Amino acid sequence: MPLPLPGFFTYALPSSMEALVQVGCRVIVPFGRTKYYTAIVSRIHKEKPEGYAVKSVSELIDTTPILLPSQLEFWQWMADYYLCALGDVYKAALPAGLKLESDGEEIVRRFKPKEEARVRLGENFQSEESLHALFDSLRKTPKQLDLLMRLLELSNHFGKERKEVSKHQLMKDEASSAAAFNGLVGKGVFQTYTVEIGRLSSSNNQETVVKHVLNAPQQKALEEILETFQQKNVCLLHGVTSSGKTEIYIQLIEQALAEGKQVLYLLPEIALTTQITQRLQRVFGNKLGIYHSKFSDNERVEIWQKQLSQEPFDVILGVRSSVFLPFQRLGLVIVDEEHENTYKQQDPAPRYHARNAAIMLAHKAGAKTLLGTATPSIESWYNATEAGKYGLVQLTERYRELQLPEIKAVDIHELRHKKLMHGAFSPDLLNAMRDALGRGEQVILFQNRRGFAPMIECHNCGWIPRCVNCDVTLTYHRSSNQLVCHYCGHSITPPQVCPACEEADIRSIGAGTERVEEEIKTYFPEVKVARMDLDTTRSRSSYEQLIRDFEQGKTRILIGTQMISKGLDFGNVSVVGILNADLMLSYPDFRAYERAFQLMAQVAGRAGRKNKRGLVLLQTSDVKHPIIDQVRRNDYKGMVEMQLAERQMFRYPPYYRMVYVYLKHRNASLLDQMAQTMATRLRLIFGDRVMGPDRPPVARVQKLFIRKIMLKFEMKVNPLRIRELLLKVQQDLLSEDKFKTLTVYYDVDPA
Ligand SMILES: [Zn+2]
Ligand SMILES: [Zn+2]
Repeated sequence: MPLPLPGFFTYALPSSMEALVQVGCRVIVPFGRTKYYTAIVSRIHKEKPEGYAVKSVSELIDTTPILLPSQLEFWQWMADYYLCALGDVYKAALPAGLKLESDGEEIVRRFKPKEEARVRLGENFQSEESLHALFDSLRKTPKQLDLLMRLLELSNHFGKERKEVSKHQLMKDEASSAAAFNGLVGKGVFQTYTVEIGRLSSSNNQETVVKHVLNAPQQKALEEILETFQQKNVCLLHGVTSSGKTEIYIQLIEQALAEGKQVLYLLPEIALTTQITQRLQRVFGNKLGIYHSKFSDNERVEIWQKQLSQEPFDVILGVRSSVFLPFQRLGLVIVDEEHENTYKQQDPAPRYHARNAAIMLAHKAGAKTLLGTATPSIESWYNATEAGKYGLVQLTERYRELQLPEIKAVDIHELRHKKLMHGAFSPDLLNAMRDALGRGEQVILFQNRRGFAPMIECHNCGWIPRCVNCDVTLTYHRSSNQLVCHYCGHSITPPQVCPACEEADIRSIGAGTERVEEEIKTYFPEVKVARMDLDTTRSRSSYEQLIRDFEQGKTRILIGTQMISKGLDFGNVSVVGILNADLMLSYPDFRAYERAFQLMAQVAGRAGRKNKRGLVLLQTSDVKHPIIDQVRRNDYKGMVEMQLAERQMFRYPPYYRMVYVYLKHRNASLLDQMAQTMATRLRLIFGDRVMGPDRPPVARVQKLFIRKIMLKFEMKVNPLRIRELLLKVQQDLLSEDKFKTLTVYYDVDPA
């Protein structure tokens, strides 16, 4: 059932359905007093359940399964490992169009097949005789005659093989008149009808691209990967930015296809994949299917159904949810940019990590997994080195003689002190930008905060507006003149005077991408600037347009949040500015340094043109920070060794498995009491592996207060045993009257 409830439910099967039903088929079942849900058949048996009266299945939707047995097994693994209900996985896995829902009695079918209007000649005009009579009668209405002739031509009426003609096709000629069309329909000359067509584009792209020949380091890396796969199921490919990893992926995909296998190619966000999508489409044509969140639900249903058919896509390029697609003969999984934390689903459950889930998916299918990145996650690096679980292949040379950029740290603390900063810009950065633009080159600026200003403040009394629902300050967005909560979306118009002291001296503090954009326009009024963040890329097309304009040089400066750090290659960028590294380094999380290094190294990797070394200016008020130094020297190993030492000392992943227990409630004092009780009970079982309860950095979201209990387990402890004990404590707690309104959920391997 698509519900966050543990276990399975038994329903009686009417005899009329008995012969038709199979495991993996959907059925409509009643639940509670008035509700109906789409359930999936997991087992057909003759055991009477205890404790509840069995109701009957209302309707059988499928006669062939929409879920393969291997998928159900994968769902079960996910629910067990990530401490959620199987129904949570079901809800996340299946496109909404395959889940029918009821509100009361009526069941809504969400999936709407796409239809096309077509036109044919009316029955009475099929014979040659009647057609000639018709020509005569239409002499006085030449537009109708024209349209008739066009239909006869398009449908190949006088030829051997007739063709179907869509109304769109018939009417797209400018001379076609709607009045003439309606006239012909009125006379019965034209008949219209609709047919169901698919949404999946059927480009006739037949592998027309000449394949890239790998250079020597790429070839060597490919051979090493294949060798690794002889012994290990997972291989980490650590290749510096612009080392040509995609070419290696393409070769591996081709080999898998040649063996009759399917390939899953995972990317962290499809928004950033325009360039890679186009490249793969050119190579694999209509063997490639794309699965992503910005597709309509109907399209996703069609891909799901195609993957169950006799002719599935051989290659699926998709975001994290594509691990849920049916695969019939999976042979290879590629996880590109494996370090990205967007692979981790934060909310709602299942809070799974798509990289780790993909490794499990591949393992269950007997397939191999390749993890690729320029800045491996510390977990993957550890697994490929110390732990010896994965193979490791390195690619250290940049493709086409690209040099790694020169990275300079700029001390903005000192510059601020001397009043030499121009808003968010140091003089060095402005000069470098001016030089680059003067030479006709392009600039990328990275500011990891959207909006105009992180907050506004009353200069007189220090009042700061906060969200009414959440424990965060509101971000000022100038374009919409709104203060917005980035957690719940709540927004208000900024007050003219301070609500606390009634002074009219409200100022904004700090800089988001919107302010950076505005400042640039004052320094470089003649230069075209584009901004890429969540606010400017709501639709897929707007994102693609931004990329295209920058690629073609229509825009010269690109400002962006972390979005610009991901897998984009531009040929003419000579300067990259990181406006404020401190924001990343001060984040309160054990992964903050690792993430800061990855982000900065990835952004820096966008600099550099053929035969010319790029320049990266890294603005920070802490130039001596070890991470700044490691980024500057491109010292991944230095970073990872330092972090591993700290993680081991303070008992963090990859040496320990972490589980966060979150508790939510409207009443803060009751919540504190519950959190204390739960932590105490957990300590009785797990001892000093339990920390907290604490307030998380954002301790209230959407009117619910939040507390967090942190658990750290040695890797040798069995996750299923942890699950069992945790759920027992939770059940006991929630069975007590005063605690039963508490919401408890878990985040395993938080990222
Ligand atoms: Zn005030
Ligand atoms: Zn809020």
